[in-house]
Amino acid sequence: MIEDTKTYAYADDLLRGRIILVTGASDGIGKALALECARLGAQVILHGRSVPKLEAVYDQITAMDGAARPSIAVLDLAAANAESYMTLAQSIEDEFGRLDGLVQNASILGERYSLEQYDAVLFQRVMHVNVTATFALTQVFMPLLHKSDDASVIFTSSGVGRTGKAFWGAYAVSKFATEGLSQVLADETKHTDIRVNCINPGATRTAMRLAAYPAEDRDLLKTPEDILPTYIYLLGAESKGVTGQSIDAQ
Ligand code: NAP
Repeated sequence: MIEDTKTYAYADDLLRGRIILVTGASDGIGKALALECARLGAQVILHGRSVPKLEAVYDQITAMDGAARPSIAVLDLAAANAESYMTLAQSIEDEFGRLDGLVQNASILGERYSLEQYDAVLFQRVMHVNVTATFALTQVFMPLLHKSDDASVIFTSSGVGRTGKAFWGAYAVSKFATEGLSQVLADETKHTDIRVNCINPGATRTAMRLAAYPAEDRDLLKTPEDILPTYIYLLGAESKGVTGQSIDAQ
């Protein structure tokens, strides 16, 4: 593994020909990452729940010189069932035959309450979207990842997924679980061509961050574009063999 992924410098064709699915590609970090992957030559599959927002990202990619036409995968992770996961995986298999990159980025924040006051239904919803749906998506995509000779899975954690902090509720618990998901899968795939790692983006200027810290000066935060080098490193061939890591993007 390179010493500093934050300053990773890469060529403009680093991801040429790679098929990469980004969950939560309609906004924030996932959107910035999907656009950068497309700029670097990847065939990008844009996952999200909002068709108009995904279409806007689609349009930005098709307007890029030489970018491969992206695909849109609409699936609301709060409502998806076993059949909808299977249907999505099947349609990607039919269209592309394999996956070289899977970035599990979509998440919800829930509410900033103490555990004593946390609504149990909301707790379940946050755990469902951030953990159970992430697991279910990963599971249905495993056969497609095995068809790549150089596949990279990235999970998305958080600082509060490493050290529990007051009032982060289900979100923090879900990010501890995400670190666990990443470690278990990395160990299970250590003798395969699939690498599995977890990124903690750090404080980044997105709608989620604004919801968590409404009074903060947004101009002091890194933008989604600023934190991409670690993601790009893990998606490119140079990180082959790097697995089971939990990496800070800042
Ligand atoms: P964001 O701007 O709120 O974007 C979240 C993405 O997830 C959006 O595309 C959203 O879709 C999608 N999503 C949410 N619920 C969904 C559902 N039920 N079904 C399908 N898609 C759904 O958040 P972000 O800040 O970019 O966060 C990206 C990742 O980084 C998350 O895993 C977050 O926990 C993590 N993170 C962020 C920060 C930070 O400071 N921003 C810090 C640490 C970790 P819509 O556009 O339809 O809402």
